[in-house]
Amino acid sequence: FNRELQRSEKMEIISELAASVAHEVRNPLQVTRGFLQLLQGKSQNKDREYITLALKELDRASSIITDFLTFAKPEIDHVQLLELSDEFRHIEGILVPLANFQGSKMTSRIPKGLYIEGNSSKFKQAFINIVKNSIEALQEDGQIHIWAYMEQEEVVIHIRDNGEGMEPAEMARLGEPYFSNKTKGTGLGLMVTFRIIEVMRGELTFHSKKGVGTEVIVRFPAASGGETLSS
Ligand code: ADP
Ligand code: MG
Repeated sequence: FNRELQRSEKMEIISELAASVAHEVRNPLQVTRGFLQLLQGKSQNKDREYITLALKELDRASSIITDFLTFAKPEIDHVQLLELSDEFRHIEGILVPLANFQGSKMTSRIPKGLYIEGNSSKFKQAFINIVKNSIEALQEDGQIHIWAYMEQEEVVIHIRDNGEGMEPAEMARLGEPYFSNKTKGTGLGLMVTFRIIEVMRGELTFHSKKGVGTEVIVRFPAASGGETLSS
C-alpha cells in the first residue's frame, strides 16, 4: 500500500511537470506557426509542400497539448469546492464560440448551488474534452445541450449532441489511448477525461446511436456548499 502511494505521488509530480512544460511550449509553437505561414505565402512547389507539412505537424503538437495538458496547472493539486454553474460558465466561454463558428447551437441549463469536490482546472480539462468531441461530431443543424441536477447524494451532468453518433464497437474503445476516428485526432482526450473523473470519484457513461447522436452522463458525489475543506 505504501509503495503504491509513493508511485502515485511520483505520477502526480510527473504530470504537473509535463503540464508546466506544455504551458511554456505553447507560445514558441504559435510564433513558429506565424513565421511558417508567412513563408508559405512566399514559396512555391516543393518548398511550399514542405512548409505545409511542417504546419500540419505543428498543429498536431498543439492538439496533443490541448487534449492532454492545457488546463492542468503547474502546481500540486489541491481539492477545492467547485460550483458547477461557475465551472460551466468558463467552459462555455471557450466552447460556445467554437460551436457558433461552425454554425451549431449550444445551450445549457445548470442551476446554481450544485457543488462537488475536485480541482477546477482538471474539471475544465475533462469537460472541454467531452464537449469538444460533441462539437466535432456535429453535422447540419448541430445542437448540443448540457444540463445538470441533484439526484439523491449525487450531482448528475448530461451532455447531449445530435452528431454522427457511434457504433457499439467504437463505444467499447472509448478512453483507449490513441483511439481516434478523426484525421486530426490525437485519441488522448477521453483517456485523460476518464482518468480525471475517476480521480474525482465520478463515473462517466456514454449512450450513443449511429446517425442519431450521443449522450454523455457524468455523476459525482455531491458536496455541501460552503463547507470548509481540509486541503
Ligand atoms: P479524438 O477527439 O482526438 O479523436 P478522443 O479520445 O477525444 O480523441 O475521442 C475518441 C473517439 O471517440 C473520437 O475519435 C470519436 O470517434 C469518438 N467520440 C467521442 N465522443 C463522441 C461524440 N460525442 N460523438 C461521436 N463520436 C465521439
Ligand atoms: Mg477529442
